[in-house]
Amino acid sequence: MKTDLRTDITVEDVCNGFVYNEFEGRGLFGLGGKLVIQPEYQRNYIYANGKDDVAVVDSLLHEYPLGLLYFVRIRHDDTEIAPEEYFTDQDTATYEVLDGQQRITSFGRFKTNKFPIIGNDGVPHYYSGLADDLKKRIDEAKLTIYICEGSESEIKAWFKTINISGKPLNDQEVANAIHSGPFVTKAKEEFSNSQNSHIQKWSAYIKGDVKRQDYLKTALEWVSKGNIDAYMSQHRYDDNISELKTYFTSVIDWASSVFMDVEAEMKGLPWGEYYESYHSNSYNPADVHQKLQELYSDYYVKKRSGVYEYILGGCTDTTLLEVRIFDDVTKKTVYNRQTSEAQASGKSNCPLCAMGNDNNKTRIYKQNEMDADHVTAWSNGGATDISNCTMLCKTHNRAKGNK
Ligand SMILES: [Zn+2]
Repeated sequence: MKTDLRTDITVEDVCNGFVYNEFEGRGLFGLGGKLVIQPEYQRNYIYANGKDDVAVVDSLLHEYPLGLLYFVRIRHDDTEIAPEEYFTDQDTATYEVLDGQQRITSFGRFKTNKFPIIGNDGVPHYYSGLADDLKKRIDEAKLTIYICEGSESEIKAWFKTINISGKPLNDQEVANAIHSGPFVTKAKEEFSNSQNSHIQKWSAYIKGDVKRQDYLKTALEWVSKGNIDAYMSQHRYDDNISELKTYFTSVIDWASSVFMDVEAEMKGLPWGEYYESYHSNSYNPADVHQKLQELYSDYYVKKRSGVYEYILGGCTDTTLLEVRIFDDVTKKTVYNRQTSEAQASGKSNCPLCAMGNDNNKTRIYKQNEMDADHVTAWSNGGATDISNCTMLCKTHNRAKGNK
């Protein structure tokens, strides 16, 4: 791999022909069209928050260095030219920003009056309204740029190495870089696009940030049954995302048809897994609604996010609800049954006392002297229902609880 350093390129040079696409949230071109600021393997522009972007402009105004920028040089013919001639008219190569697109997009947007900075006077100033000396300070700021040329795999390896400063890429952003190609481009247009009108609906089921690829990650997780890397690798050169989109839509449509309610606890549930396990069952949405409301108002249901799978599975697996307390009817029923059996056989109605050899082995406790206990421990998946309930005297219940 060939690497060259240039320290004479200015902010103004890079901003020549700068285009920012508001719709896609991407800075597109610079350096008179030779530079692709946000190639497809890059994440979206995330500095537009009035803090990170303003900090970039502040650094330029204070003449602080902006840090290293990394460009990849892409040759389109065999023309050999010296690094000093890069970016000139003789240079037929194009360039992609490998690292630095957030910084470049920030000063590019400032220079095109997309956001103001607040001056010492407390007043917002757009670029066009700055004093000439300040404009000049920004325009003439020199950048430090590493330009590299090499094979795709060399460049990707380099990308992983240099990607250590600023906001680190998350797993999905790295996966997008590694598997970059037409599939990732199309998938990002659909699932990483905050302008997509479906986001509002999807956000009821999906946790995270569209721009940080959390929606794309979820869509891939569902269709690939958790094997995102393998799926992205297999589909890397596909020119469509039909399967991904169809599967995702099926899951969301199914979830929203079974559950008419939209509750906070639905966000981030494994809807793809639920879809796989339950979508061939039929559900009556009105009954589901009623059951859901009942469980939401049930004091003993500790885990509301478990209500959805509980209902889908036919309301049998109470461990999903983290119900740890037996209700009064269950306790009374078990107490009565144990007590009548104990009286008939002349033993204690506490089964543990009945096995002992002291005076308590024939003692009949009152219900308020006993507590309900899980036969199979709740922590081992034991349900909180009558089949798993036994009444113990308070001493034995406490002793068992301490084990
Ligand atoms: Zn006992």
